[in-house]
Amino acid sequence: MDSKEIAAWQVGREIGGEIVRPKRQLAMVFDLNKCLGCHTCSIACKTQWTREEGMEGMWWNVVNTVPGQGTPKGWEAMGGGFTPNGNARPSRIPGREEFGDAWQFNQSEVLYEGAGKEAHLTPKNFKGEKPSWGPNWEEDQGAGEYPNSYFFYFPRMCNHCTHPACLEACPRGAIHKREQDGIVLIDDQKCKGYRFCMEACPYKRIYYNHVRLVSQKCIFCFPRIEQGVAPACARQCPGRLRFVGYLDDEKGPINKLVAQWKVALPLHEEFGTQPNVYYVPPLSPPKLDADGNPIPNEPRIPLGYLESLFGPRVRDALAVVEAEKAKRSRGEPSELMDILIGYKWPDDLFPDFTKDPATLHRGGEGDA
Ligand code: SF4
Ligand code: SF4
Ligand code: SF4
Repeated sequence: MDSKEIAAWQVGREIGGEIVRPKRQLAMVFDLNKCLGCHTCSIACKTQWTREEGMEGMWWNVVNTVPGQGTPKGWEAMGGGFTPNGNARPSRIPGREEFGDAWQFNQSEVLYEGAGKEAHLTPKNFKGEKPSWGPNWEEDQGAGEYPNSYFFYFPRMCNHCTHPACLEACPRGAIHKREQDGIVLIDDQKCKGYRFCMEACPYKRIYYNHVRLVSQKCIFCFPRIEQGVAPACARQCPGRLRFVGYLDDEKGPINKLVAQWKVALPLHEEFGTQPNVYYVPPLSPPKLDADGNPIPNEPRIPLGYLESLFGPRVRDALAVVEAEKAKRSRGEPSELMDILIGYKWPDDLFPDFTKDPATLHRGGEGDA
């Protein structure tokens, strides 16, 4: 698939009989083989964008342990997106409890009011009850039986889809997709909090601000992008697994991983929104038999599970990564391994967005 084929595959959306696509599309690739589950990405996003009132329970970036029910709880079965005929798939709005919301703790009682020996820190949800779910409720749980149990970490954010179901569902015209880079944004001056977008998004990556009564989501850090700075979640990632760039840049890592090597795949392509976050699927060691011997060609993470996330192309993607890894182990060169390792940071991860944010003028008082 070359970049022309990407354009054909990223079909766009139809408006008045015409197919509409942005001039360029920004995308991310996450190499799941490198994710540490450290949540630095989520914290980087939170401290940058979701610290205000009503945003306490928002995690525009989440890192779920899978297999599991994720954030919000059971999101994959909630519906949304489009059928193969382009009709909206039935769906529903996820509730605050399903997202997990933000918990309150009795810090004053334990730390300042002398009850420390008798009382312990206890979380309460927004209803004042003991929480029964949270954003990382299933952390490190996974599936399978010892010695063949397995899990992996799975970062998720808005996919800035080429055919955004959220945009089409908004009766206020409050959501737009930027022409210059395909970033999907909600204008909270126009939003009336109807939450049709939350219902329509099949990835359930939109949150509701219960104080301001508007819907809010990942903005692909567009104020940073416009100044040549990588998104906070990508720049802060210690695993260096989050590649950022334009889908049509044939020299950049995104096009190479998605189109040339074909090892980075969209999540749940069947949802029909043409997502622009791609995943290099995880390799895993072979399963062990009752005597503890490896079973050839049976990876610990079942291929059926990976197919349920990334579709049938995942088998070829894994085979290519395995073959290139073997080449490198034999001391042979491999362009794919060089890209995935990303020797030079930040240039190899996000070549168009290497500026250090600390060097920017912030436009504040006294700033030249
Ligand atoms: Fe909209 Fe959801 Fe796609 Fe983001 S992931 S652009 S919120 S449909
Ligand atoms: Fe948050 Fe920016 Fe990453 Fe979006 S791109 S999840 S806004 S840090
Ligand atoms: Fe994974 Fe990077 Fe996020 Fe850590 S910061 S959880 S390594 S994606």
